[in-house]
Amino acid sequence: MTAAIIDGKAFAAGLRARIATEVEALARRGIKPGLAVVLVGEDPASQVYVRSKGRMTVEVGMASFEHRLPDTTPEDELLALIARLNADPAVNGILVQLPLPRHMDEAAVINAIAPEKDVDGFHILNVGLLATGQKAMVPCTPLGCLMLLRDRLGDLAGKRAVVIGRSNIVGKPMAQLLLRDSATVTVAHSRTADLPALCREADILVAAVGRAEFVKGDWIKPGATVIDVGINRTEAGLVGDVDFASALPVAGAITPVPGGVGPMTIACLLANTLTATARANGLTDPEGLTP
Ligand code: NAD
Repeated sequence: MTAAIIDGKAFAAGLRARIATEVEALARRGIKPGLAVVLVGEDPASQVYVRSKGRMTVEVGMASFEHRLPDTTPEDELLALIARLNADPAVNGILVQLPLPRHMDEAAVINAIAPEKDVDGFHILNVGLLATGQKAMVPCTPLGCLMLLRDRLGDLAGKRAVVIGRSNIVGKPMAQLLLRDSATVTVAHSRTADLPALCREADILVAAVGRAEFVKGDWIKPGATVIDVGINRTEAGLVGDVDFASALPVAGAITPVPGGVGPMTIACLLANTLTATARANGLTDPEGLTP
């Protein structure tokens, strides 16, 4: 048996096409969604992300606003920019690219974003809303993983899910979303005992560790659905957190790296911007873009 490849690239392209159609419908009402991206400093990976975010925002017909600040920018200047964006009616979504320079308090900066414009879903209010099952802005990467899982498996109720990683960006919100879909969820992390045995119980295995080819094929339950969030730069190129070659003959389905979760993240950022725009204009949430 060989695992089915979950084509996140194609799924994300379909999602962006749908978003573009919704943006056209909004244009007929005189509404144009706007996404502001703030980049502080010169981190090369962040520059690449910000560039492709800007390009795809424009491609779906939204307005893209880019703000680049030097890494010596005082925190109060960044906070003043966020305050201006919060008050700007042309801006429906605000994303501050992480990581921020060391002299800045990341939590304070994120919590300065108006929660209804927090398209990354990292503001404490959105974290709390998600955790209590209320209408929130949901972090893009886990939202993309959830869409792929639902598309593959349908109803997730009662499935055993193991999420490796407990970050605020991926692991924790992923666990919340799976719980919301009534999966039975275990969150594993760097101190988890006998991780391979735990993983072998999982019908759904999500790896968000940040270690190249960490999860081996013999950790995977035969037929399981494996979502590989990892993006690791190695001499051999980009690889995931799952050892793809040994996972392929065991898993039922698996996301490749690249071309799996990665493209879903930006598509879900656009989805969140569309949702934020609809809410700001008193419209109902677009179908299927929110959990
Ligand atoms: P992080 O470093 O914040 O968290 C990593 C988690 O892995 C931690 O909770 C830690 O406890 C756990 N961990 C570390 N070593 C472990 C071990 N030996 N056994 C079990 N667990 C262990 O990273 P993150 O921000 O959550 O990102 C995880 C990965 O996902 C990275 O490779 C990152 O580049 C990638 N990522 C991809 C996307 C995307 O769009 N595809 C988005 C965000 C992050």
